Amino acid sequence: MAATERGRIRDATLRLPSPVEELVDSRFADRSVRLLLKRDDLINPEIPGNKWRKLKYNLEAAQRDGHETLLTFGGAYSNHIRATSAAGHYFGFRTIGVIRGEPHEPLNPVLAYAVEQGMTLAYLDRTTYRRKHESDVVQRLHDEFGEFYLLPEGGSNALALRGCAEIPAEITEHFTAICCPVGTGGTLAGVAAGLQTGQEAIGFSVLKGGRFLGDEVRELQEQAYGRERGRWRIELDYHFGGYAKQKPGLTAFIDDFADQHGLQLDRVYGAKMMYGILDLVERGRFAEGSVIVAIITGVADNGARPSCCPWRTG
Ligand SMILES: *Cc1c(COP(=O)(O)O)cnc(C)c1O
Repeated sequence: MAATERGRIRDATLRLPSPVEELVDSRFADRSVRLLLKRDDLINPEIPGNKWRKLKYNLEAAQRDGHETLLTFGGAYSNHIRATSAAGHYFGFRTIGVIRGEPHEPLNPVLAYAVEQGMTLAYLDRTTYRRKHESDVVQRLHDEFGEFYLLPEGGSNALALRGCAEIPAEITEHFTAICCPVGTGGTLAGVAAGLQTGQEAIGFSVLKGGRFLGDEVRELQEQAYGRERGRWRIELDYHFGGYAKQKPGLTAFIDDFADQHGLQLDRVYGAKMMYGILDLVERGRFAEGSVIVAIITGVADNGARPSCCPWRTG
């Protein structure tokens, strides 16, 4: 069935290219650098930010190949699960969300939302979940659910990188560095692939012990392009204790930023990146005249404690 017959998000509801805004803040002006915000959080309220970027070409491929079902994996608070359920609803796919761990009643707001969008939930115990992409586990899922298009955990695959690689080209202003948070590394890998010479991508790990993420980025680029692309690096010191940790210092930073700029940063991803950018600027790590872009990859609160790192915790 063609995309249009199934119903799709009307073009009007996807705000693309996403807006670019300058952030006026003396902390940047004092160092003679500029900060631009790439507002991917405004693309669509249900499928915001990098989740839309990563789904875009996967949805196209799934439709082209005649799939009727999308199956993916995530923790119980996963933004990717949430976005996939919404994409299924809009684009006319059945969706199956395979959730790490045991079912809990009542469903948390992320999973309740996903079910409202028509997603079927299944659960894998933590041991099996760790092997979720192995063929015997996938085969068992096929036995249970029939044919499906498989999106990996976090939605990061070669087609996801191609979607993220379109971000830099949407920015018409000259810039020298572009920043994003790093969970799986898919967004950073794609963004770096879309750079011009003279530009660099800087990722901010939201995970404690994120040293392995560099290999993930390299591997994803190999899968997508057959080689490494673009100049990029990952800052490892701005995770604030790890994925789901609630550090008072970060809360104060988020509140202060919201007071000054009227933008509520999400605590798992965006706030850590922004804190890191400001810290690097104040340490003089960006040359005078640098123009830095910060990608706002998502929204502050999906109505839930955005929590739990599916690929690193227990
Ligand atoms: C999922 C998510 C990320 C992480 O992106 P990766 O491609 O997995 O590194 C960053 N920001 C937000 C808001 C997200 O929801």
